[in-house]
Amino acid sequence: MQVTTRTMQASKHIALVAHDNCKTHLLRWVSEHKDKLRAHTLYATGTTGHMLSRETGLEVNCLLSGPMGGDQQLGALISEGKIDMMIFFWDPLNAVPHDPDVKALLRISAVWNIPVATNRASANFMISSPKLEEEVDIEIPDYNAYLSERLD
Ligand code: PGA
Repeated sequence: MQVTTRTMQASKHIALVAHDNCKTHLLRWVSEHKDKLRAHTLYATGTTGHMLSRETGLEVNCLLSGPMGGDQQLGALISEGKIDMMIFFWDPLNAVPHDPDVKALLRISAVWNIPVATNRASANFMISSPKLEEEVDIEIPDYNAYLSERLD
């Protein structure tokens, strides 16, 4: 796979998602880092996003609820280069009805090489990185090269 570069701006587009049993953990984490997060544009799946904005006062762009298509909306935004990083507290101990969507979301974030944190420890590393407030280049698949190879 040939790669190219995408530049993330200093102000990032950050996706926030938590499964039901993990929502209180995400709320606590977001509350702790509210001042840093305020400088960025936040996106979230429906229930997570409404809860976070109600409880913290942060402005959050709310997609549909995860099981109703929100994970897939997020995946589409990631594929379009519109999300720079994701905090996704998925539940490792309980099944969810939209497991295929969860898998797809994690897969597409790996394809497009965005930083993903799946628990508080990794989210803490991410939020304390100096790169959070800097312009950052990331490698992404070179879609035009991919397409022309396939059309050969
Ligand atoms: P929710 O979706 O924020 O609507 O609960 C989260 C998810 O399960 O992806």
